[in-house]
Parts: sequence; structure tokens; C-alpha cells
Amino acid sequence: MIIYDYDACSGCQECLNVCPRGVWGFSKSKNKAEILNSKKCIDCTSCEFQCPVRAIRIEKTLIPKSPQILGQPD
Ligand code: SF4
Ligand code: SF4
Repeated sequence: MIIYDYDACSGCQECLNVCPRGVWGFSKSKNKAEILNSKKCIDCTSCEFQCPVRAIRIEKTLIPKSPQILGQPD
């Protein structure tokens, strides 16, 4: 399960580069990472370790859960 702090994201796109499952997308206009395919996430934690501003936390869950997004505007 992905817990993503949208406000904290600096737009470096490292999460897109390391994710083996194509979970992350990117909004150029907002300069923020966006979760595109949360159901494909395998909780590998690569994005969590790669994010330089600690905007991503991965909680391992037995049953897949929807991501929690903090601070994303409507
Ligand atoms: S935990 Fe792994 S599979 Fe899930 S979004 Fe991060 S890099 Fe991708
Ligand atoms: S690695 Fe972190 S700061 Fe960089 S785009 Fe992804 S969420 Fe944003």
C-alpha cells in the first residue's frame, strides 16, 4: 500500500525510474508524481528508498489496499 505525500514531492521523477511495475506517472504541469496503477504495486519499496524527500512510504499489506494520498489538490 502506497502512502504518498503529494505536497512533499519535488518532481524529480526518480520513483518513475525505479518502479518495476509502472505504477507512477508524472504531471508536467504540476511537477508532481502521480499514482497511475496502484493495483500493480508489489510493495517492493524501491520508490520509497529512492525518493529524496521521503514523499513515499510503502506499507506491506496482505490484502491490496487503495493508496493514501496526502495533500493532493482536487
Ligand atoms: S513499492 Fe515498488 S512496485 Fe510499488 S510503487 Fe514503489 S517501486 Fe513500484
Ligand atoms: S521520487 Fe519522490 S520527489 Fe521524486 S517524483 Fe517521486 S515522489 Fe516526487
